[in-house]
Amino acid sequence: MLASHAFANAMFIASQRTRRASYLPDGPCVKDGAGGGHVNRAIVGLSILISALGAPAAEVASGVELIPGSFVPGSQPDGNTVIFRGSDGLVVMDTGRHPEHTQKILDFAAKAGVPIRAIVNSHWHLDHVGGNPLLKRAFPGVRVYASGAIDDALKGFLARYRAQLEEMIAKTPDPEKQKPWRADVALIDSGRALGPDEVVTASSQRVLAGRKLDLELETHAVTAGDVWVFDPATRVLAAGDLVTLPVPFLDTACPERWKTALGRLSKKDFSVVVPGHGAPMTRKAFESYRTAFDHLLACGASSRTKESCMDGWLADAGELISGEDPKFVRPLLDYYVDVLRGNAARTAKLCGK
Ligand SMILES: [Zn+2]
Repeated sequence: MLASHAFANAMFIASQRTRRASYLPDGPCVKDGAGGGHVNRAIVGLSILISALGAPAAEVASGVELIPGSFVPGSQPDGNTVIFRGSDGLVVMDTGRHPEHTQKILDFAAKAGVPIRAIVNSHWHLDHVGGNPLLKRAFPGVRVYASGAIDDALKGFLARYRAQLEEMIAKTPDPEKQKPWRADVALIDSGRALGPDEVVTASSQRVLAGRKLDLELETHAVTAGDVWVFDPATRVLAAGDLVTLPVPFLDTACPERWKTALGRLSKKDFSVVVPGHGAPMTRKAFESYRTAFDHLLACGASSRTKESCMDGWLADAGELISGEDPKFVRPLLDYYVDVLRGNAARTAKLCGK
């Protein structure tokens, strides 16, 4: 099975559920630095807000807002959007896939009465870059910052995925069923409009919309180029899909280097991590995720049964995915353990070897 097809399948499995994760972190007491208690209480409130339908945006910390991504039945997911307010406008990290999600970003900017000055894309997956063209149309001056990995993806992974979508459309006469596939084809066809104006080639601190942000680059982790953001003013870390619940999406990943990247995130003095999918996390929760990730990789590389790897993840990440239905999570894990144990040559290539 082609990777892109598998990716579509996994995303489809993920999209079949109706309920979002409603992870509540471990109470109002935190030990990881000044201001942490405030942030943690904010996260608890935020998680409640997120699980309430119709909450378009919620404050993570001062001047940092989250527009949560969602899984809608029968539809592909949207990644989380994190908005940083600068003195000169807004910085938007990840723009969703569906116009409904991107519209929430536009509504947020309209309500705030300030322009979107910059977009940072964590990686090229369509649930993170899909809203770029809409935002660029609304704010022609906006600059998009991302790694250059989408160029290869448009020629490779996304081109193959597009061909498979066309095949599915040809085989399925029902126009309603075709709709989301046609939408993805249209997104892929917007090509360069999904990509960066400024390619992030190294980690550095930048001033975007008047706000100092650390843009950190990982190569060959979730994709060939991932950017995560650290906001020194609030110690919010926006991780993109380096942190993804209910399971890490390993389709385009180099697992070993992803693991190394999580080690680098861990070294940052953050108070809260906003994942690419799922609710904000305390440091304790992030470290649980990291342990679960390491164990999953180790299990994938061992001769242990697939069942045992799946049970391991469910135990290690148990608290993080307590709101999830195991009937939903297990098929995803089943698929991703196969990915981990799959084609070694393909993995080597994804690892840049
Ligand atoms: Zn994603």
